[in-house]
Amino acid sequence: MTIRVSFSGVQKTCLALVAAAGSFVASALMPVDPPSEPATLNLTNLFKPAIKLDLEFSRVKAAANQRVEQWRNSITQGEDEEKKSFFFSSPASFHGKIVQQAELAGQEKVIALTFDDGPWIGTTEKVLNILNQYQVKATFFWIGKHLKLYPHIAKKVVAEGHAIGNHTWHHPYRVNTFQATREIEDTATLIYQVTGVKTSLFRPPGGVLNNGLAAYAQQQKYTVMMWSADSRDWNTGISTSTIIDNVLRNARSGGIVLLHDGGGNRWQTVEALPVIIAEFKNRGYKFVTVPELLQMEENENKLQSK
Ligand SMILES: [Zn+2]
Repeated sequence: MTIRVSFSGVQKTCLALVAAAGSFVASALMPVDPPSEPATLNLTNLFKPAIKLDLEFSRVKAAANQRVEQWRNSITQGEDEEKKSFFFSSPASFHGKIVQQAELAGQEKVIALTFDDGPWIGTTEKVLNILNQYQVKATFFWIGKHLKLYPHIAKKVVAEGHAIGNHTWHHPYRVNTFQATREIEDTATLIYQVTGVKTSLFRPPGGVLNNGLAAYAQQQKYTVMMWSADSRDWNTGISTSTIIDNVLRNARSGGIVLLHDGGGNRWQTVEALPVIIAEFKNRGYKFVTVPELLQMEENENKLQSK
């Protein structure tokens, strides 16, 4: 598929807004290269009407900036450079790596909830409401073609302080080299255009590591994020209680839980989520985003090596 993107005046305004964002965010986001080739992403719907979009984009950026600032202030260990670690991304030592869970020696029990295949009409906002109610921050791995359909939902996810990862454009299992590039790059471009987020987290569809997607992502310094607990909620026939059991029986500190907010009717996930969160809280777990989780491991490693 040939991809053409022509930048309209409004898009240029958006890009200018991004360029004007604070210096920390500028350093926190990975360098933004223009698409290596012209693109076909039809962004008309995303950028209409112009004034509303500018306001919305500013609001999403401001909320993201605020969360980054809070997170930076909350980190008390380490050098200044460590504090500037990517908010939406993985620390540099994890770039190009495949990660299933964090290895943490500390006493504090932490867990990262992740949601794949969105943004999705209905379910994503229900998940956001539950996360908000329990004051939990999570990580969402988006599919580009779903993001194109539901950019307004994606903006909410970022504005509410959750982390974002790339989950390809079409969710393919087989790709050639050219397709692998487009699947990841086109999704990254749209994530940036819709939310101002540049992420270095990649999750391969189906967890497949040998079809060229993970290899391309690693080459581009993404961290390939797997999981330590599979809820199996992608199986539409699964019961809510089985989802809860699948997650809790694999619970461990530093763990990464695989859930789905999109790609189908995920009502079982929505039903299971409050029970899962409440039980983790009972067991003394704190919820973190994937970048926060990786940063914790990096901080521990640096302390040990001093
Ligand atoms: Zn998926």
